[in-house]
Amino acid sequence: MATVSDGDRPALRMRAAQRGLSRLLLRDVRLLRRLLVPSRLQVSVPAWIAAVLELVDQHAETAGALAADFYEAQRDAAGVPGRFVAEPPEPPGREQGESGLRWATKDLWPRDEAVATPVQAEPLEVRLEVAQRKAEGVVQKLVVDYGRQTVRRAVDRDRGAVAYARAAALGGCSFCKLMASRGAVYKNAQTAGRDANDRFEGGASVAKFHDNCHCAIVPVFRGQRFELSPQAAEWDRLYREYAAGHPGDQLRLFRRALAEHDSNPLPGSY
Ligand SMILES: [Zn+2]
Repeated sequence: MATVSDGDRPALRMRAAQRGLSRLLLRDVRLLRRLLVPSRLQVSVPAWIAAVLELVDQHAETAGALAADFYEAQRDAAGVPGRFVAEPPEPPGREQGESGLRWATKDLWPRDEAVATPVQAEPLEVRLEVAQRKAEGVVQKLVVDYGRQTVRRAVDRDRGAVAYARAAALGGCSFCKLMASRGAVYKNAQTAGRDANDRFEGGASVAKFHDNCHCAIVPVFRGQRFELSPQAAEWDRLYREYAAGHPGDQLRLFRRALAEHDSNPLPGSY
């Protein structure tokens, strides 16, 4: 039986493409910084939000197209019969983007000293910097999530697909590595067989992403057996040895086990 893994070359390429797209997006977002006029925040913040959301739409379209191409190529390579078109979902709603950017900019507004956040006590220049950094995380997640949702949606709809898995980088954070070590999440009990997972409640946790996360979602098709990459197998081993059976504390224990025992750590990984 053919195997598919989170460490396969196409998964690496997909992650690299997402990273490249994030870079382009952030470069463009940074160019909009000049729209934020310190002396006219009331007017300029909403205008800036609108311009940033415009960029999100453009880049999300690319992310969706990239993900659809990746999915269809993986499907072809797996030899799944029949044709399937991976269509991106509805574009990320304006509301979601707006609320994210409002959250990112909330410390720009003055507030009564008694209830101000530590950032609000800083000079405006610092607050602008913080807002920019938060906004970059928000838009990166919006755009890359859109691509990842395209793959998940295709897995859900495609009768030729049985599962998806998360592909995390060697230098990824402990949360991502933990999710990647979980392996394939099956669409339903029939496709899961004895691989059914027992680690977390609900399959959705494998598809939760944080800001600035570059993890990819890899589809698994009928006739394929999912196999953890060597690094994900090691994360799985560390999880089982040091963190399993400690609900509520497993991420902390796993993070510590990674720091002490992972043979693949990269500088600055943690
Ligand atoms: Zn992560």
